[in-house]
Amino acid sequence: MIWNKERECMSRQELRELQSKKLVRMVEHVYNNSPFYRARFDAHGVHPSDIRSIDDITKLPFTVKKDLRDNYPFGMMSVPMSDIIRLHASSGTTGKPIVVGYTQQDLSNWEECVARCLTAYGFSKNDIIQVSYGYGLFTGGLGAHAGVQKIGATVVPMSSGNTQKQIQIMQDFGVTGLCCTPSYALFIAEEIAKAGIDVNKDLKLKIGVFGAEPWTNSMRQELQNKLGIKAYDIYGLTEISGPGVGGECECQNGTHIWEDFFYPEIVNPDTLEPVEPGQVGELVFTTLDKWGMPMIRYRTRDLTSLNYEQCECGRTMVRMSKILGRSDDMLIIRGVNVFPSQIESILLEFKQFQPYFLIEVDRIDNTDTFDIHVELMPDAYSDQISVYMEYTKALSSRIQSVVGIRPSIKIAEPGSIERSTGKAKRAIDHRIFK
Ligand code: ADP
Ligand code: ZN
Repeated sequence: MIWNKERECMSRQELRELQSKKLVRMVEHVYNNSPFYRARFDAHGVHPSDIRSIDDITKLPFTVKKDLRDNYPFGMMSVPMSDIIRLHASSGTTGKPIVVGYTQQDLSNWEECVARCLTAYGFSKNDIIQVSYGYGLFTGGLGAHAGVQKIGATVVPMSSGNTQKQIQIMQDFGVTGLCCTPSYALFIAEEIAKAGIDVNKDLKLKIGVFGAEPWTNSMRQELQNKLGIKAYDIYGLTEISGPGVGGECECQNGTHIWEDFFYPEIVNPDTLEPVEPGQVGELVFTTLDKWGMPMIRYRTRDLTSLNYEQCECGRTMVRMSKILGRSDDMLIIRGVNVFPSQIESILLEFKQFQPYFLIEVDRIDNTDTFDIHVELMPDAYSDQISVYMEYTKALSSRIQSVVGIRPSIKIAEPGSIERSTGKAKRAIDHRIFK
């Protein structure tokens, strides 16, 4: 099903016209109402009269996270605070939080975006959806919550944590959909299995809505198998509104970005020039219909690529490939770029290991160390040390062949690697303190 066919399936030509109209309006709004953007545009030598269509977007300066931090808390608002009816802040994965303010219109547009995602996953008013993203300043909980209500489904506002209760409610209420981070979903799945609950017989769960952190297609398979569901991606970031900037459709073949609200570009993070179509680069967004705190050419630091071919589902909106990671998450170890998401998909190939890991990097005697802590599956335990050595050797060789450097695999005590109820911490880099 499609929530808003008129928009989601509009012709690319009509879409560009709409984007042009909205961009002109947005640029005027920020120039007239935000001292930050006015100064930025003036310094860049660009005036709203230079922006006549969406093609002129590249004339505008970029905005970065530091701008939001420097203007903490309310310096980026483009309406009087009396028109702001909600505040959220980023979870601070990468430093001091940033604050975002929403007008009534902004919240209603955000809801519309989440409603589009939920409908694309196959939900309708007949569903009971458990929102296990954290509620509060983090956008995940309340963002998903509003979308569930918008499509008329029943929302169960669990927030994150208290996993036993999550499972109990899921069972008692006949929950059909679960929204949380993929790492929390994995933990919930582990606890369900431990409790001896049969996901197909004892639960009504059919759809998972996972996002807020990078996850791979291998993780999708793992979650689908363990929970007996279809698992879909939801993407978003606080600065651009929150979850629902884009979502997958039934084809599970790319995350549709709601381009009538958010204009995406992919640039080379070093030169800031557009990359060739289909190439991986840094995702940049301009909000086209967000009034409280618009973002002009905001550099997300997320690395991905865009596919403009029309999707089989009938939606014309661009599809984004799975996020490789943020450029901030990338570890450079002995000169080699390593993303935690690469380790995730390799680890999932090995049935002897649990799907949890922690990368630990240090620098000893001027050489980078690269350790990966993993746990064995209960049935992989053995009295013979040679068996472990075989497993760890196989894993480190496989990682070396994909990533380019060889990690040292450390077997951790069962259950000792943190099971996250929100965004998982995948790496510790001790070098930053040296
Ligand atoms: P913080 O920056 O503190 O983590 P946010 O909650 O706003 O705050 O996080 C947004 C970021 O989370 C995105 O920029 C992206 O890196 C990551 N993210 C969100 N959804 C997804 C997703 N579906 N796939 C991969 N990464 C995601
Ligand atoms: Zn599609």
